[in-house]
This record gives sequence, structure tokens and C-alpha cells, in this order.
Amino acid sequence: MPFRASILTLYPEMFPGPLGVSLAGEGLRKELWSLDTHQIRDHGIGRHRNVDDNPAGGGAGMVLRCDVLAAAIDAAVRADDARPRLLMSPRGRPLQQRQVREWAEGPGLVIVCGRFEGVDERVIEGRNLLEVSIGDYILSGGEMAALTLLDACVRLIPGVMGKVASGEDESFENGLLEYPHYTRPREWEGRGLPEALLSGDHARIAKWRREQAEQITRERRPDLLSLLPSGEKVSAKQTDEGR
Ligand code: SAH
Repeated sequence: MPFRASILTLYPEMFPGPLGVSLAGEGLRKELWSLDTHQIRDHGIGRHRNVDDNPAGGGAGMVLRCDVLAAAIDAAVRADDARPRLLMSPRGRPLQQRQVREWAEGPGLVIVCGRFEGVDERVIEGRNLLEVSIGDYILSGGEMAALTLLDACVRLIPGVMGKVASGEDESFENGLLEYPHYTRPREWEGRGLPEALLSGDHARIAKWRREQAEQITRERRPDLLSLLPSGEKVSAKQTDEGR
């Protein structure tokens, strides 16, 4: 059963959006994955199909109603649907490649996109929504966050990306940031290519790349080093072969 994404949103016209082009879009057309959207407003209250209301306790902004959102979820997703149900939320668990890979290998995702100040807490509990954040900043709605999360998942679905190998050597996959890339021309504005890459010696090239990855990770994201599996620990000292 291919990966299926069901999106609950007030702006279904935002989908598939950027996921309709390039490799993700081709994958969609080849039915390697699928996407369906569900308009939350279809379950709104009254003639005006209201979906939000003032925050209990006062304050600025509006809150998505729990009854409306629950009705939208119940209409879109069968009770026995095994897919994880996510709520895009800046308060959520930070999205990580490990989690992306796990979801990409599963049956798909149900993704609720918040708007306004957020959603009534009771529907998060009552419908078992897992809050996921794509970073420590505030977007105007969950749609771009959902598109980002889906892009990360979809590119891992077999057949979506051209080469199977790409995707396995990248930043985060091995717990390190990626080594620097180079291509033609061999010399550009006085800058040459690193010696090791011209050596034709695969072991030396692999060693150089690993060292570069370690050094860049140490410089930019030392927090990642502590997450490496033990036995793969990278020492704090500088590497012998510079960039
Ligand atoms: N008042 C909230 C922010 C609401 S932003 C707060 O301070 O936490 C409106 C909606 O955008 C959210 O409900 C969520 O669905 C989405 N959103 C905003 N930033 C996000 C982020 N970093 N990651 C995931 N979703 C986000």
C-alpha cells in the first residue's frame, strides 16, 4: 500500500503546491504516493461555517474549535486507520530525519494544519494528535510546515528519487552534517579542488569526506556529536588533512 497523506486544512488549494512539481510531483502522478485534502470549514458551525472562536480566558487572536476539528478528522479518517495523526505546531516535537524515515516507510500520515493562535487543546487529547514542529519560529499556518514534512518523507519513498544511493549519505543520515561538494570546473576564480578528491584513491576520498563531515559538524552543530552512537564518537581534536 503506497504512502498516503491526508491533510486537514482551511486552505486545501495550497496542496500539492510545490509537491506537484519535480520528483515529488512525478511520484504523485506515478501513484508512488497519494495526497487527499479535507476542508475543515465544511464542518464549520452555522450558515457562516465558523471554525474559530475567542480564546477562553480572553486574549488576542482566535482558536480553532475542538468540535469542528474533531468532526473534520472523523469524516476524513476511519477509526481503524493506522496512520499517525499529526498536528503541525511550534510546540511540537522537533522534526528529525530519523522520524521522517520511519514515517516514509509506513502507510502514510494524517496531518492537521493549524491556523490562528492554534487549536483547542481538547481535540489534541481527544483525537490523539502528535504535535510536530519544523523549527523554532512561527509560521502563519501549518500548511507550509506540512508541505515541508511531506517533502522530507516523499523523497525517501522507493522510486521517487532517481538514485537510491542519494539520500543515504546526506546530512543527518549518519548523524553528521555532510562533507563539501565540488564539481567542474577544476579551477574557478583561483580556487582549485581538494587534493584528496583528485587522487582517484577511493579509501582516501572516503576518509577525507568523513573527516570533513566531522569537522563541519564540530564547528556548526556540536550538539549532533553527542547523539552519535557510542563507538562512533568523534574526538574534539582537529583532523590532519585540512580543507
Ligand atoms: N500561538 C501559537 C502559534 C500559532 S501559528 C504559538 O505561539 O505557539 C498558527 C499555526 O501555524 C499553528 O497552529 C501551527 O499549525 C502552524 N505553525 C506555526 N509555526 C509552526 C512551526 N514552527 N512548526 C509547525 N507548525 C507551525
